[in-house]
Amino acid sequence: MNFTLFARLRIGTLLSLALALSSPAKAQSPDSTRANYVYSAAQCPSCADWSVPHQPIRIFGNTWYVGTNGLSAILITSPEGHILIDGGLPASAPSIVANIRALNFRVEDVKLIVNSHAHYDHAGGIAELQRASGAEVAASPSSGRWIRSGKSWPDDPQFGIAFSYPPAPVARTIADGDTLRVGSLAITAHFTGGHTPGGTTWSWRSCEGSVCHGIVYADSQSPISAEGFFFTRSKEYPTALADFEHGFDVLAHLQCDILITPHPSVSRLWERMESGALTDSDACKWFAAGARQALAKRVATER
Ligand SMILES: [Zn+2]
Repeated sequence: MNFTLFARLRIGTLLSLALALSSPAKAQSPDSTRANYVYSAAQCPSCADWSVPHQPIRIFGNTWYVGTNGLSAILITSPEGHILIDGGLPASAPSIVANIRALNFRVEDVKLIVNSHAHYDHAGGIAELQRASGAEVAASPSSGRWIRSGKSWPDDPQFGIAFSYPPAPVARTIADGDTLRVGSLAITAHFTGGHTPGGTTWSWRSCEGSVCHGIVYADSQSPISAEGFFFTRSKEYPTALADFEHGFDVLAHLQCDILITPHPSVSRLWERMESGALTDSDACKWFAAGARQALAKRVATER
């Protein structure tokens, strides 16, 4: 470290300290920084794999993949501003920013950030991405509660094993079926809970010339839980099974030419892109059918 940098850091520290002392209510909580949320390999064996970098890539039209290899982040662009879906892990934020820039888009033009579900591996980077962009964060009531507090609540099937993450300001609470707009962009929220109470699937249309496709970012449908949680009889989350069933039904009826999932591997995104078989209007139907089978298996173990 050279002296100038050292001096600048020292001055920066003193300035932050002065700011914190002069306006404690406005001071940024140190808890919202990424450095306080590093999950070790022992805590999170999957994190290293999820975090392998991935080059940003056009999925279709104005829809771009800007996430890491194992955690999706989707950018939908327009001349009037962009929408970003999901923020990966806390550690994913810098690579999402770099991917957006590598596509020659400005992070500051991201006007809206939304989320699939509020676990650390999809909402962990939102605080930093919100700060970098100044975007409004919108979420379902339950997800909003979690994102604002930077952790899941007792109604989370994974309560106790899901890590906490930097809390982010959620400016807008959405309702099921809401369409959110940025300029000419419009994305619609579909509540598809079960994996978490606030789980949200997003749908929109993207075009290349006169060819348009319905794109669905389908939230995780896996019945994963902490030890001792029962989807069939949870007091904390009594509507878990009904939420799953509702979600399967919603997914099976969406216009779904291109399916994307928060973990790209779950819907074999890379294989489908490589083989040129990305478009499949039955994709959400088979996704919902597979999830329904997995839930039935899980339910059988609980009886
Ligand atoms: Zn999850």
